[in-house]
Amino acid sequence: MIVIKVGGSEGVNLDAVCADVAELVGRGERLVLVHGGSYLTNEVATALGHPPQFITSPSGYTSRLTDRRTLEIFEMVYCGQVNKGIVERLQARGINAIGLAGIDGKLWQGPRKEAIRAVENGKTLVIRDNLTGKVEEVNVDLLNSLLDAGYVPVLTPPALSYKGEAMNVDGDRAAAMTANALQAATLLILSNVPGVLRDFPDEASLIRRIDVSEIEMVAQEYAQGRMRIKLLGAQEALAGGVEQVVIGDARGDNPILRALAGEGTIVSGQQVPELA
Ligand code: ADP
Repeated sequence: MIVIKVGGSEGVNLDAVCADVAELVGRGERLVLVHGGSYLTNEVATALGHPPQFITSPSGYTSRLTDRRTLEIFEMVYCGQVNKGIVERLQARGINAIGLAGIDGKLWQGPRKEAIRAVENGKTLVIRDNLTGKVEEVNVDLLNSLLDAGYVPVLTPPALSYKGEAMNVDGDRAAAMTANALQAATLLILSNVPGVLRDFPDEASLIRRIDVSEIEMVAQEYAQGRMRIKLLGAQEALAGGVEQVVIGDARGDNPILRALAGEGTIVSGQQVPELA
């Protein structure tokens, strides 16, 4: 079982991702695809006169500020063009893909953060109208019944709060929770960089391996912004029983096959003291 998260940042090659999914499913592999859509959402939100706003938590994580209008635009893009675009690409390759948002069938549920802290110009603010949360529960019966029937699930935020509200969640961490729930051996987190870079944006500075014990150090020392959340997702997946996480590149050809061959940053529990 493989869970593949493909990001929504600029440069991600969805045709190549879908070609690899078709190849693996053709070989009999059981897999679930989780996707993002941040770049297109930012463009559409700007065109609609509601440009994206980002907030930084006191611990240094950056996330999208999601008011009701932002959530609506987010749904248009993630559940609309991006999800259906991936389903169409897979259908064109003979794969019976089915697109679902986390709110469908209580696929992804968890607590909404009723109040969050953000740091702005050195001051800590409390924000209450933010529709975000995290995935704690995955409807694994639903996923397994789809997989057993031969469908390939294509999953996207938003998730559902315990009070029944749609809420934005981090796709990398939702993918990690999904991998744990499905007892997947491998989680791939594909984005528009070769992996975790020691000296971002120098692509020659790729860190090839990170031991689970080094994740926090790497997140603090080398990763900024969104890459920190990918490392947190990797840590959660490994803690939940996933054997290896590869943070890889979705820009070129065969992004999934290359990541499965170990191209990118491999995060695992094996002792590989490369950074020591
Ligand atoms: P996606 O939407 O594809 O999931 P994100 O934009 O969330 O991708 O995260 C990937 C981004 O993380 C990169 O485009 C890069 O800007 C940023 N980043 C920050 N620090 C690093 C680092 N050390 N190595 C690689 N990428 C990094």
